[in-house]
Amino acid sequence: MVEAVIQPAHQVGNVAGLSQETWADAVAARTGPATKIGPFESVHVFWLAGMSCDGCSIAVLGATSPTVESLMTGSLPAVPIVYLHHTAIQLEAGDAYMEPMRRAAAGTLGAPYVVVYEGSIADETLADRTGGYWSAIGEEAAADGSLRQVPSAEWLSRLAPGAAAVIAIGTCATWGGIPAAFGNVTGSMGVMDLLGADYRSALGVPVVNIPGCAPVGDNFTETVAAVLLFLQGVAPLPEFDELGRPAWQFGETVHRNCPRAGFYEEGTFAEQYGDHQCLVELGCWGPVVNCNIASRGAINHVGGCMNAGGVCIGCTMPGFPDRFAPFYKKPPGSTFSATGAKLTGLFIRPLRRVSERDRKRTALWDQRGETPSPWGAAHENTFIDRLVHIGYDWIRHSGTSAKDR
Ligand code: SF4
Repeated sequence: MVEAVIQPAHQVGNVAGLSQETWADAVAARTGPATKIGPFESVHVFWLAGMSCDGCSIAVLGATSPTVESLMTGSLPAVPIVYLHHTAIQLEAGDAYMEPMRRAAAGTLGAPYVVVYEGSIADETLADRTGGYWSAIGEEAAADGSLRQVPSAEWLSRLAPGAAAVIAIGTCATWGGIPAAFGNVTGSMGVMDLLGADYRSALGVPVVNIPGCAPVGDNFTETVAAVLLFLQGVAPLPEFDELGRPAWQFGETVHRNCPRAGFYEEGTFAEQYGDHQCLVELGCWGPVVNCNIASRGAINHVGGCMNAGGVCIGCTMPGFPDRFAPFYKKPPGSTFSATGAKLTGLFIRPLRRVSERDRKRTALWDQRGETPSPWGAAHENTFIDRLVHIGYDWIRHSGTSAKDR
């Protein structure tokens, strides 16, 4: 993990070895006088779609913390109003839809903008050999006067240099994803592959990556809000890891926050789908996958792979899908870790159950020797239980004064 790759807006000049004024001048020289470091009243967001299934769009429209609506209405304190240009939600069509993009590419938009890219970036030179295209947005006159479809990747190349930030959403846009899997006839790749490691936005931000297939919508809207606050100059840039992922979202493995992790630790595993124990022997890759879906849920803190009974297939990872397939087989490494957990679990589980049963009792029930519950046959401590807990409690109380017990 790396520390913030860029500094807060008020420190950007120091990073570049420039004063705040000369940095602003440098930004203006690269992007035109319309772009300046915040505060901004509004920001345009151009949502470009490449080799996409639209799943990322659906995930983001379901986001709740914050919602797309709150971003678009400027109801978040200090966050500028977001003008979202998205084919699925915008009323305008044709030239009216394309015009702001054209002006942004020409440097005449008159307002800062962010580019969001969804889907893989196909190698358009492959399609161009036969006069076609893989994915395109709008059309414009070619040199011979005919109309040509403008590939999404071309729009990205045009818009990225002047953008305040470029955000890749979903595993296809971040790492290549499904279209870039074994075979990859379209030459698909991620946004960083196209723009290169040296790419920086007009305000000095490298490509931000929010992976997932589909990603957690809140991961995206939360990051957008955080980056906008940074661009406003009112908050530090949030911490990103060495792959440009929000570090607070992707810093842990799924396994560490999985509700089934306790079963793994006690060495009990599901044998079929529908069982409530750990799913590692059914093919779960959670122990080696960076993702927060188990703790955050899919939408509005509800659902999410293991929460809903599904195994983790590593969809947020650059190696997805090839390095996790076939999905129906368990990860080879789990043979060692699961066997170790089963062996220690043989001792740990019975001991914990003894303590669990004892701590389900009150002192009064012990005195009376019965539990007054009409709901079922409650456990009564056996002679062995009491013997175990005499020793257990002696250890628990040793070194403490009587008033602390
Ligand atoms: Fe870990 Fe997967 Fe088991 Fe959850 S289901 S505890 S992520 S191995």
